[in-house]
Amino acid sequence: MFCRIVAGEIPATVVRETDTTLAFRDISPKAPVHVLVIPKEHFVDVVTMAQADPELTGAVMETAATVAEQEGLSLDGFRLIFNTGPWGGQEVFHAHAHVLGGAPLGPMLA
Ligand code: 5GP
Repeated sequence: MFCRIVAGEIPATVVRETDTTLAFRDISPKAPVHVLVIPKEHFVDVVTMAQADPELTGAVMETAATVAEQEGLSLDGFRLIFNTGPWGGQEVFHAHAHVLGGAPLGPMLA
């Protein structure tokens, strides 16, 4: 589905784009700042991407770090998550990092 955002077939609020990555606001934000960072190339999840293309994985992380900075999250911190597989809560099977911040998020697991 995120391939369709890369292709411009589904609208998204893009906050950063590089040759290989795209960052856009989550359609259903779970924090004041909630941005998804994806590789433009399709990989099912972060593990598949990391094994196939470590350089691209680094590029996704770099874009996530830049997004956090441009969204003003550097000082207070933020959360960077890759949900992976059904037990990891992954619902969209195109690798993506969540950048979450803008408020204290508390402990991750209740
Ligand atoms: P996952 O649970 O797979 O880690 O996260 C998928 C995320 O994608 C969810 O937070 C969901 O709100 C977001 N999402 C699903 N469909 C769309 C969409 O079409 N556009 C945008 N911007 N976000 C989406």
